[in-house]
Amino acid sequence: MKQILWFRRDLRIEDNAILSAANADVLPIFIFDKNILNKLPKDDKRVTFIYDSVLKLKKSLQEIGLDLHIFYDEPINVFKKLKNDFDEVLCSVDFDDYAKQRDEKIEKILPLKRFIDSFILNPNDHLKSDLTPYKVFTPFYKSLDFLTSSNEIETYKRNPNLKIIPFDYNFIPKLEDLGFTRQELPDFLNEEIKDLLKDFSLRIKDYQNDRDFFYKDATSKLSVHLRFGLISAKQVFNYFKRVPNSDFFIRELFWREFYNYILFHNPKSEFENYNKLEISWNENEDDFINWCEGNTGVPIIDAAMKHLNNTGLMHNRLRMIVASFLTKNLFISWKKGEKYFALKLLDYEASSNIGSWQWSASTGADAAPYFRVFNPYIQSKKFDEDGIFIKSVLKELKDVDSKDLHIENAIGSNLFINYAKAIVDIKISRQMAIQKFKEAKNENL
Ligand SMILES: Cc1cc2nc3c(=O)[nH]c(=O)nc-3n(C[C@H](O)[C@H](O)[C@H](O)COP(=O)(O)OP(=O)(O)OC[C@H]3O[C@@H](n4cnc5c(N)ncnc54)[C@H](O)[C@@H]3O)c2cc1C
Repeated sequence: MKQILWFRRDLRIEDNAILSAANADVLPIFIFDKNILNKLPKDDKRVTFIYDSVLKLKKSLQEIGLDLHIFYDEPINVFKKLKNDFDEVLCSVDFDDYAKQRDEKIEKILPLKRFIDSFILNPNDHLKSDLTPYKVFTPFYKSLDFLTSSNEIETYKRNPNLKIIPFDYNFIPKLEDLGFTRQELPDFLNEEIKDLLKDFSLRIKDYQNDRDFFYKDATSKLSVHLRFGLISAKQVFNYFKRVPNSDFFIRELFWREFYNYILFHNPKSEFENYNKLEISWNENEDDFINWCEGNTGVPIIDAAMKHLNNTGLMHNRLRMIVASFLTKNLFISWKKGEKYFALKLLDYEASSNIGSWQWSASTGADAAPYFRVFNPYIQSKKFDEDGIFIKSVLKELKDVDSKDLHIENAIGSNLFINYAKAIVDIKISRQMAIQKFKEAKNENL
Protein backbone atom coordinates (compact mmCIF):
# COMPACT_ATOMS: atom_id res chain seq x y z
CA MET A 1 0.00 0.00 0.00
CA LYS A 2 1.36 3.41 -0.97
CA GLN A 3 -0.25 6.48 0.55
CA ILE A 4 0.02 10.14 -0.35
CA LEU A 5 -0.24 12.35 2.75
CA TRP A 6 -1.66 15.59 1.42
CA PHE A 7 -0.95 18.41 3.87
CA ARG A 8 -3.27 21.36 3.32
CA ARG A 9 -4.18 23.36 6.40
CA ASP A 10 -2.62 21.09 8.99
CA LEU A 11 0.99 22.28 8.82
CA ARG A 12 2.28 20.50 11.92
CA ILE A 13 3.50 17.06 12.90
CA GLU A 14 1.89 16.73 16.36
CA ASP A 15 -1.83 15.91 16.71
CA ASN A 16 -1.99 15.38 12.98
CA ALA A 17 -4.71 13.05 11.69
CA ILE A 18 -2.96 11.89 8.55
CA LEU A 19 0.33 11.10 10.29
CA SER A 20 -1.70 9.07 12.74
CA ALA A 21 -3.93 7.25 10.25
CA ALA A 22 -1.19 6.45 7.73
CA ASN A 23 -0.09 2.85 7.95
CA ALA A 24 2.03 2.19 4.93
CA ASP A 25 4.81 3.68 2.85
CA VAL A 26 4.03 7.35 2.47
CA LEU A 27 4.72 10.39 0.36
CA PRO A 28 3.92 13.63 2.23
CA ILE A 29 3.12 16.45 -0.19
CA PHE A 30 1.99 20.07 -0.17
CA ILE A 31 0.51 21.75 -3.24
CA PHE A 32 0.67 25.49 -3.77
CA ASP A 33 -2.66 25.55 -5.55
CA LYS A 34 -2.61 27.69 -8.69
CA ASN A 35 -6.41 27.96 -8.60
CA ILE A 36 -6.17 29.80 -5.30
CA LEU A 37 -2.88 31.66 -5.73
CA ASN A 38 -3.69 33.06 -9.17
CA LYS A 39 -6.61 35.00 -7.71
CA LEU A 40 -4.52 36.71 -5.03
CA PRO A 41 -2.57 39.96 -5.31
CA LYS A 42 1.26 39.66 -5.44
CA ASP A 43 1.55 41.28 -2.02
CA ASP A 44 -0.76 38.87 -0.18
CA LYS A 45 0.71 38.51 3.30
CA ARG A 46 -0.78 35.09 3.91
CA VAL A 47 1.29 33.55 1.14
CA THR A 48 4.50 34.69 2.86
CA PHE A 49 3.26 33.10 6.08
CA ILE A 50 2.15 29.84 4.45
CA TYR A 51 5.34 29.64 2.42
CA ASP A 52 7.52 29.91 5.54
CA SER A 53 5.27 27.49 7.42
CA VAL A 54 5.50 24.89 4.63
CA LEU A 55 9.29 25.04 4.70
CA LYS A 56 9.23 24.62 8.49
CA LEU A 57 6.94 21.64 8.08
CA LYS A 58 9.36 20.12 5.57
CA LYS A 59 12.14 20.47 8.14
CA SER A 60 10.03 18.95 10.95
CA LEU A 61 9.11 16.01 8.73
CA GLN A 62 12.76 15.48 7.81
CA GLU A 63 13.62 15.41 11.51
CA ILE A 64 11.32 12.42 11.97
CA GLY A 65 12.70 10.60 8.95
CA LEU A 66 10.09 11.73 6.43
CA ASP A 67 10.07 14.66 4.00
CA LEU A 68 7.66 16.99 2.21
CA HIS A 69 7.48 17.28 -1.55
CA ILE A 70 6.24 20.63 -2.71
CA PHE A 71 4.26 21.21 -5.89
CA TYR A 72 3.11 24.39 -7.58
CA ASP A 73 0.20 23.39 -9.80
CA GLU A 74 -3.51 22.70 -9.84
CA PRO A 75 -4.18 19.75 -7.48
CA ILE A 76 -5.90 17.81 -10.25
CA ASN A 77 -2.74 17.89 -12.40
CA VAL A 78 -0.56 16.72 -9.52
CA PHE A 79 -2.77 13.72 -8.80
CA LYS A 80 -3.09 12.84 -12.49
CA LYS A 81 0.69 12.55 -12.56
CA LEU A 82 0.91 10.56 -9.32
CA LYS A 83 -2.09 8.29 -9.71
CA ASN A 84 -0.38 5.24 -11.23
CA ASP A 85 2.17 4.94 -8.43
CA PHE A 86 -0.10 5.34 -5.40
CA ASP A 87 -3.12 3.65 -3.86
CA GLU A 88 -4.82 6.40 -1.90
CA VAL A 89 -4.63 9.95 -0.57
CA LEU A 90 -5.05 10.94 3.08
CA CYS A 91 -5.94 14.52 3.98
CA SER A 92 -7.89 16.63 6.45
CA VAL A 93 -11.41 17.69 5.58
CA ASP A 94 -12.50 21.18 4.56
CA PHE A 95 -16.10 22.25 4.27
CA ASP A 96 -16.14 25.36 2.12
CA ASP A 97 -17.47 25.22 -1.41
CA TYR A 98 -14.18 25.38 -3.31
CA ALA A 99 -12.61 22.68 -1.12
CA LYS A 100 -15.58 20.34 -1.52
CA GLN A 101 -15.60 20.68 -5.31
CA ARG A 102 -11.82 20.25 -5.50
CA ASP A 103 -11.92 17.09 -3.41
CA GLU A 104 -14.76 15.59 -5.43
CA LYS A 105 -12.61 15.92 -8.56
CA ILE A 106 -9.56 14.37 -6.89
CA GLU A 107 -11.66 11.49 -5.63
CA LYS A 108 -12.34 10.50 -9.23
CA ILE A 109 -8.58 10.06 -9.71
CA LEU A 110 -7.53 8.37 -6.47
CA PRO A 111 -9.43 7.24 -3.34
CA LEU A 112 -9.42 10.15 -0.87
CA LYS A 113 -9.66 9.51 2.86
CA ARG A 114 -10.63 12.64 4.76
CA PHE A 115 -10.15 13.19 8.48
CA ILE A 116 -11.53 15.79 10.88
CA ASP A 117 -8.40 17.68 11.84
CA SER A 118 -8.81 21.44 11.58
CA PHE A 119 -11.62 21.42 14.14
CA ILE A 120 -12.30 19.61 17.41
CA LEU A 121 -15.79 18.46 16.51
CA ASN A 122 -17.16 16.33 13.77
CA PRO A 123 -20.14 18.49 12.73
CA ASN A 124 -22.12 15.34 12.02
CA ASP A 125 -22.22 14.64 15.74
CA HIS A 126 -23.87 16.82 18.38
CA LEU A 127 -27.35 17.10 16.95
CA LYS A 128 -30.37 18.14 19.04
CA SER A 129 -32.61 15.44 20.49
CA ASP A 130 -34.85 15.76 17.41
CA LEU A 131 -31.76 15.00 15.32
CA THR A 132 -31.63 18.44 13.72
CA PRO A 133 -28.58 20.68 14.10
CA TYR A 134 -28.36 23.44 16.70
CA LYS A 135 -28.87 26.98 15.45
CA VAL A 136 -28.00 28.91 18.59
CA PHE A 137 -24.58 28.97 20.21
CA THR A 138 -25.50 28.70 23.92
CA PRO A 139 -27.46 25.41 23.75
CA PHE A 140 -24.89 24.08 21.29
CA TYR A 141 -22.12 24.85 23.77
CA LYS A 142 -24.09 23.44 26.70
CA SER A 143 -24.58 20.19 24.80
CA LEU A 144 -20.80 19.88 24.74
CA ASP A 145 -20.48 19.90 28.51
CA PHE A 146 -19.17 16.34 28.51
CA LEU A 147 -16.26 17.55 26.40
CA THR A 148 -15.60 21.05 27.69
CA SER A 149 -15.61 19.94 31.32
CA SER A 150 -12.93 17.34 30.62
CA ASN A 151 -9.31 18.22 31.28
CA GLU A 152 -8.00 16.92 28.03
CA ILE A 153 -9.21 15.96 24.59
CA GLU A 154 -7.48 12.99 23.07
CA THR A 155 -5.08 13.98 20.31
CA TYR A 156 -3.84 12.02 17.31
CA LYS A 157 -0.68 10.03 18.00
CA ARG A 158 1.82 9.84 15.18
CA ASN A 159 2.44 6.39 13.70
CA PRO A 160 6.17 5.96 14.38
CA ASN A 161 6.59 3.25 11.74
CA LEU A 162 5.99 5.34 8.63
CA LYS A 163 8.52 4.99 5.84
CA ILE A 164 9.03 7.55 3.13
CA ILE A 165 8.68 6.38 -0.44
CA PRO A 166 11.79 7.32 -2.44
CA PHE A 167 10.66 9.97 -4.89
CA ASP A 168 12.95 11.61 -7.37
CA TYR A 169 11.69 15.17 -7.16
CA ASN A 170 13.38 17.96 -5.33
CA PHE A 171 11.61 21.13 -6.32
CA ILE A 172 11.44 23.85 -3.70
CA PRO A 173 9.88 26.90 -5.32
CA LYS A 174 10.91 30.36 -4.24
CA LEU A 175 8.15 32.72 -3.16
CA GLU A 176 8.82 34.67 -6.37
CA ASP A 177 8.31 31.50 -8.45
CA LEU A 178 4.78 31.44 -7.06
CA GLY A 179 4.28 35.01 -8.26
CA PHE A 180 4.53 36.69 -4.84
CA THR A 181 6.86 39.11 -3.14
CA ARG A 182 7.92 38.66 0.48
CA GLN A 183 5.78 40.73 2.84
CA GLU A 184 6.52 42.03 6.27
CA LEU A 185 4.44 40.12 8.82
CA PRO A 186 3.26 41.27 12.25
CA ASP A 187 5.92 40.44 14.85
CA PHE A 188 3.86 37.81 16.64
CA LEU A 189 3.80 35.69 13.50
CA ASN A 190 7.57 35.41 13.65
CA GLU A 191 7.45 34.11 17.23
CA GLU A 192 7.49 30.45 18.22
CA ILE A 193 4.02 29.14 19.07
CA LYS A 194 5.18 27.93 22.46
CA ASP A 195 6.14 31.53 23.32
CA LEU A 196 2.73 32.83 22.20
CA LEU A 197 0.99 30.24 24.35
CA LYS A 198 3.12 31.02 27.37
CA ASP A 199 2.71 34.75 26.92
CA PHE A 200 -1.08 34.47 26.72
CA SER A 201 -1.26 32.14 29.71
CA LEU A 202 0.17 35.02 31.77
CA ARG A 203 -2.54 37.37 30.48
CA ILE A 204 -5.53 35.01 30.36
CA LYS A 205 -6.87 36.04 33.79
CA ASP A 206 -7.74 39.45 32.30
CA TYR A 207 -9.15 38.08 29.05
CA GLN A 208 -12.84 38.19 29.97
CA ASN A 209 -12.70 41.80 31.17
CA ASP A 210 -10.23 43.24 28.69
CA ARG A 211 -10.78 41.40 25.44
CA ASP A 212 -13.01 44.08 23.90
CA PHE A 213 -10.59 46.94 24.51
CA PHE A 214 -8.91 46.84 21.15
CA TYR A 215 -6.06 49.13 22.09
CA LYS A 216 -4.94 46.56 24.69
CA ASP A 217 -3.02 43.40 23.97
CA ALA A 218 -5.65 41.21 25.64
CA THR A 219 -6.40 38.36 23.25
CA SER A 220 -4.42 35.25 22.32
CA LYS A 221 -3.59 36.13 18.67
CA LEU A 222 -3.83 32.43 17.84
CA SER A 223 -6.31 32.65 14.98
CA VAL A 224 -3.73 32.68 12.17
CA HIS A 225 -1.94 29.64 13.60
CA LEU A 226 -5.25 27.86 14.01
CA ARG A 227 -6.23 28.75 10.46
CA PHE A 228 -3.20 27.11 8.92
CA GLY A 229 -3.03 24.34 11.49
CA LEU A 230 0.34 25.21 12.96
CA ILE A 231 -1.38 24.26 16.16
CA SER A 232 -4.60 22.30 16.42
CA ALA A 233 -7.69 23.48 18.30
CA LYS A 234 -7.36 20.38 20.51
CA GLN A 235 -3.80 21.32 21.43
CA VAL A 236 -4.94 24.85 22.32
CA PHE A 237 -7.77 23.43 24.42
CA ASN A 238 -5.45 21.01 26.25
CA TYR A 239 -2.82 23.67 26.88
CA PHE A 240 -5.17 26.24 28.40
CA LYS A 241 -7.22 23.70 30.36
CA ARG A 242 -4.18 23.43 32.58
CA VAL A 243 -4.09 27.21 33.11
CA PRO A 244 -6.35 28.78 35.79
CA ASN A 245 -9.11 31.20 34.69
CA SER A 246 -9.31 29.81 31.17
CA ASP A 247 -13.03 28.92 30.97
CA PHE A 248 -14.13 32.04 29.16
CA PHE A 249 -11.36 31.69 26.61
CA ILE A 250 -12.15 28.00 26.03
CA ARG A 251 -15.74 29.01 25.31
CA GLU A 252 -14.52 31.40 22.59
CA LEU A 253 -12.66 28.57 20.90
CA PHE A 254 -16.03 26.89 20.43
CA TRP A 255 -17.40 29.82 18.42
CA ARG A 256 -14.95 28.67 15.79
CA GLU A 257 -16.41 25.16 16.08
CA PHE A 258 -19.96 26.52 16.02
CA TYR A 259 -19.48 28.45 12.78
CA ASN A 260 -17.88 25.44 11.13
CA TYR A 261 -20.85 23.35 12.29
CA ILE A 262 -23.30 25.91 10.89
CA LEU A 263 -21.53 26.02 7.51
CA PHE A 264 -21.39 22.23 7.35
CA HIS A 265 -25.13 21.89 7.99
CA ASN A 266 -26.07 24.92 5.88
CA PRO A 267 -23.62 25.03 2.97
CA LYS A 268 -25.84 27.54 1.16
CA SER A 269 -25.13 30.10 3.88
CA GLU A 270 -21.83 30.73 2.09
CA PHE A 271 -23.86 32.53 -0.57
CA GLU A 272 -27.33 33.27 0.83
CA ASN A 273 -28.89 34.87 3.88
CA TYR A 274 -29.16 32.03 6.36
CA ASN A 275 -32.54 33.31 7.64
CA LYS A 276 -33.86 33.65 4.05
CA LEU A 277 -34.67 37.38 4.44
CA GLU A 278 -34.95 39.09 1.05
CA ILE A 279 -33.18 42.40 1.38
CA SER A 280 -32.51 44.92 -1.37
CA TRP A 281 -29.11 46.18 -0.35
CA ASN A 282 -27.55 49.48 -1.32
CA GLU A 283 -25.42 48.96 -4.44
CA ASN A 284 -23.56 52.29 -4.23
CA GLU A 285 -19.99 51.39 -5.18
CA ASP A 286 -18.53 54.68 -3.86
CA ASP A 287 -19.84 53.95 -0.36
CA PHE A 288 -18.32 50.49 -0.50
CA ILE A 289 -14.94 51.75 -1.69
CA ASN A 290 -14.90 54.43 1.03
CA TRP A 291 -15.52 51.70 3.60
CA CYS A 292 -12.81 49.43 2.14
CA GLU A 293 -10.25 52.21 2.05
CA GLY A 294 -11.13 53.70 5.42
CA ASN A 295 -12.44 57.00 4.05
CA THR A 296 -15.85 57.12 5.71
CA GLY A 297 -15.21 60.14 7.94
CA VAL A 298 -15.96 58.01 11.04
CA PRO A 299 -12.63 57.75 12.90
CA ILE A 300 -13.11 54.31 14.41
CA ILE A 301 -14.19 52.81 11.08
CA ASP A 302 -11.39 54.47 9.14
CA ALA A 303 -8.74 53.44 11.66
CA ALA A 304 -9.97 49.83 11.72
CA MET A 305 -10.07 49.50 7.92
CA LYS A 306 -6.72 51.21 7.34
CA HIS A 307 -5.18 48.97 9.98
CA LEU A 308 -6.63 45.91 8.22
CA ASN A 309 -5.29 47.10 4.87
CA ASN A 310 -1.83 47.75 6.33
CA THR A 311 -1.42 44.67 8.50
CA GLY A 312 -3.99 41.97 7.65
CA LEU A 313 -5.20 42.17 11.25
CA MET A 314 -8.37 43.39 12.91
CA HIS A 315 -9.50 42.97 16.49
CA ASN A 316 -12.81 41.12 17.02
CA ARG A 317 -14.64 44.15 18.44
CA LEU A 318 -13.53 46.25 15.47
CA ARG A 319 -14.69 43.54 13.07
CA MET A 320 -18.13 43.75 14.69
CA ILE A 321 -18.18 47.56 14.49
CA VAL A 322 -17.11 47.83 10.83
CA ALA A 323 -19.44 44.99 9.84
CA SER A 324 -22.38 46.67 11.53
CA PHE A 325 -21.49 49.97 9.87
CA LEU A 326 -21.30 48.38 6.41
CA THR A 327 -24.47 46.31 6.67
CA LYS A 328 -26.67 48.66 8.72
CA ASN A 329 -25.50 52.25 8.28
CA LEU A 330 -24.37 51.90 4.67
CA PHE A 331 -26.84 49.06 4.10
CA ILE A 332 -24.41 47.19 1.87
CA SER A 333 -24.63 43.39 1.62
CA TRP A 334 -22.59 41.34 4.10
CA LYS A 335 -21.39 39.31 1.12
CA LYS A 336 -19.31 42.24 -0.12
CA GLY A 337 -17.79 42.75 3.32
CA GLU A 338 -17.17 39.03 3.70
CA LYS A 339 -15.35 38.92 0.35
CA TYR A 340 -13.25 41.94 1.27
CA PHE A 341 -12.24 40.39 4.59
CA ALA A 342 -11.44 37.15 2.74
CA LEU A 343 -8.96 39.07 0.64
CA LYS A 344 -7.33 40.88 3.53
CA LEU A 345 -7.51 38.94 6.80
CA LEU A 346 -4.43 36.95 7.73
CA ASP A 347 -6.67 34.61 9.72
CA TYR A 348 -9.36 34.33 7.04
CA GLU A 349 -11.43 31.26 7.82
CA ALA A 350 -14.46 30.80 5.56
CA SER A 351 -16.79 29.42 8.22
CA SER A 352 -15.95 31.96 10.95
CA ASN A 353 -16.01 34.84 8.50
CA ILE A 354 -19.31 33.91 6.86
CA GLY A 355 -20.95 33.11 10.21
CA SER A 356 -19.73 36.32 11.84
CA TRP A 357 -20.73 38.50 8.89
CA GLN A 358 -24.18 36.97 8.84
CA TRP A 359 -24.36 37.52 12.62
CA SER A 360 -23.50 41.20 12.17
CA ALA A 361 -25.94 41.64 9.31
CA SER A 362 -28.74 40.03 11.36
CA THR A 363 -29.19 37.44 8.62
CA GLY A 364 -27.38 34.58 10.31
CA ALA A 365 -28.09 31.51 12.43
CA ASP A 366 -27.49 32.98 15.87
CA ALA A 367 -27.71 36.58 14.71
CA ALA A 368 -27.68 40.01 16.31
CA PRO A 369 -31.31 41.27 16.46
CA TYR A 370 -31.84 43.60 13.48
CA PHE A 371 -32.86 46.54 15.67
CA ARG A 372 -29.59 46.42 17.62
CA VAL A 373 -27.28 48.57 15.49
CA PHE A 374 -23.84 49.47 16.83
CA ASN A 375 -23.25 53.19 17.12
CA PRO A 376 -19.58 53.52 16.09
CA TYR A 377 -19.08 56.65 18.21
CA ILE A 378 -20.43 55.02 21.36
CA GLN A 379 -18.29 51.97 20.64
CA SER A 380 -15.11 54.00 20.24
CA LYS A 381 -15.81 56.00 23.42
CA LYS A 382 -16.42 52.79 25.34
CA PHE A 383 -13.49 50.76 24.10
CA ASP A 384 -10.87 53.38 23.11
CA GLU A 385 -11.77 56.46 25.11
CA ASP A 386 -8.34 58.06 24.84
CA GLY A 387 -8.15 57.25 21.14
CA ILE A 388 -4.98 55.22 21.61
CA PHE A 389 -5.75 52.82 18.77
CA ILE A 390 -7.41 55.39 16.52
CA LYS A 391 -4.53 57.84 16.78
CA SER A 392 -1.94 55.10 16.30
CA VAL A 393 -3.43 54.48 12.83
CA LEU A 394 -4.79 57.91 11.84
CA LYS A 395 -1.62 59.84 12.56
CA GLU A 396 -3.18 63.04 11.22
CA LEU A 397 -5.49 62.98 14.26
CA LYS A 398 -2.75 62.54 16.84
CA ASP A 399 -3.17 66.04 18.31
CA VAL A 400 -6.97 66.26 18.33
CA ASP A 401 -8.88 66.22 21.60
CA SER A 402 -9.76 62.53 22.08
CA LYS A 403 -13.31 63.47 23.04
CA ASP A 404 -13.90 64.69 19.48
CA LEU A 405 -13.15 61.25 18.09
CA HIS A 406 -16.37 60.03 19.61
CA ILE A 407 -18.66 62.86 18.47
CA GLU A 408 -20.21 62.63 15.02
CA ASN A 409 -18.46 65.00 12.59
CA ALA A 410 -16.59 66.87 15.36
CA ILE A 411 -13.33 66.34 13.47
CA GLY A 412 -14.74 66.56 9.93
CA SER A 413 -16.12 70.03 10.75
CA ASN A 414 -12.75 71.29 12.04
CA LEU A 415 -11.35 73.58 9.34
CA PHE A 416 -7.78 73.12 10.56
CA ILE A 417 -7.74 69.35 10.18
CA ASN A 418 -7.83 67.60 6.86
CA TYR A 419 -10.42 64.95 7.65
CA ALA A 420 -13.59 64.35 5.66
CA LYS A 421 -17.10 64.60 7.07
CA ALA A 422 -18.94 61.32 7.66
CA ILE A 423 -20.43 59.80 4.49
CA VAL A 424 -23.57 58.83 6.35
CA ASP A 425 -25.75 60.16 9.17
CA ILE A 426 -25.65 57.57 11.93
CA LYS A 427 -29.11 58.19 13.38
CA ILE A 428 -30.99 58.44 10.09
CA SER A 429 -29.22 55.45 8.52
CA ARG A 430 -29.92 53.37 11.63
CA GLN A 431 -33.63 54.16 11.44
CA MET A 432 -33.72 53.38 7.73
CA ALA A 433 -31.98 50.04 8.24
CA ILE A 434 -34.41 49.03 10.97
CA GLN A 435 -37.33 50.01 8.77
CA LYS A 436 -36.00 48.00 5.82
CA PHE A 437 -35.42 44.96 8.02
CA LYS A 438 -38.94 45.26 9.39
CA GLU A 439 -40.33 45.33 5.85
CA ALA A 440 -38.18 42.36 4.80
CA LYS A 441 -39.37 40.41 7.85
CA ASN A 442 -43.03 41.18 7.10
CA GLU A 443 -42.62 40.11 3.49
CA ASN A 444 -41.03 36.91 4.70
CA LEU A 445 -44.03 35.98 6.89
C1 LIG B 1 -17.18 40.18 10.86
C2 LIG B 1 -16.26 39.18 11.52
C3 LIG B 1 -15.44 38.37 10.73
C4 LIG B 1 -14.59 37.43 11.32
N1 LIG B 1 -13.80 36.65 10.51
C5 LIG B 1 -12.98 35.72 11.06
C6 LIG B 1 -12.14 34.92 10.24
O1 LIG B 1 -12.14 35.01 9.00
N2 LIG B 1 -11.32 34.03 10.86
C7 LIG B 1 -11.29 33.88 12.22
O2 LIG B 1 -10.50 33.06 12.72
N3 LIG B 1 -12.09 34.60 13.01
C8 LIG B 1 -12.93 35.52 12.48
N4 LIG B 1 -13.72 36.30 13.30
C9 LIG B 1 -13.74 36.02 14.75
C10 LIG B 1 -12.72 36.80 15.61
O3 LIG B 1 -12.75 38.15 15.28
C11 LIG B 1 -11.29 36.28 15.49
O4 LIG B 1 -11.27 34.88 15.64
C12 LIG B 1 -10.39 36.90 16.55
O5 LIG B 1 -10.39 38.29 16.43
C13 LIG B 1 -8.97 36.37 16.40
O6 LIG B 1 -8.11 36.96 17.36
P1 LIG B 1 -7.54 36.10 18.55
O7 LIG B 1 -6.97 34.82 18.05
O8 LIG B 1 -6.63 36.99 19.33
O9 LIG B 1 -8.87 35.79 19.37
P2 LIG B 1 -9.12 35.33 20.85
O10 LIG B 1 -10.08 36.28 21.44
O11 LIG B 1 -7.86 35.07 21.58
O12 LIG B 1 -9.91 33.96 20.66
C14 LIG B 1 -9.26 32.69 20.57
C15 LIG B 1 -9.73 31.94 19.38
O13 LIG B 1 -11.13 31.66 19.49
C16 LIG B 1 -11.73 31.72 18.19
N5 LIG B 1 -12.73 32.80 18.21
C17 LIG B 1 -12.82 33.81 19.06
N6 LIG B 1 -13.91 34.57 18.79
C18 LIG B 1 -14.49 34.02 17.71
C19 LIG B 1 -15.64 34.32 16.93
N7 LIG B 1 -16.44 35.34 17.22
N8 LIG B 1 -15.92 33.53 15.88
C20 LIG B 1 -15.14 32.47 15.58
N9 LIG B 1 -14.04 32.13 16.27
C21 LIG B 1 -13.73 32.89 17.33
C22 LIG B 1 -10.63 32.04 17.21
O14 LIG B 1 -10.15 30.84 16.66
C23 LIG B 1 -9.58 32.69 18.08
O15 LIG B 1 -8.27 32.54 17.58
C24 LIG B 1 -14.58 37.26 12.73
C25 LIG B 1 -15.39 38.08 13.51
C26 LIG B 1 -16.23 39.03 12.92
C27 LIG B 1 -17.11 39.89 13.79
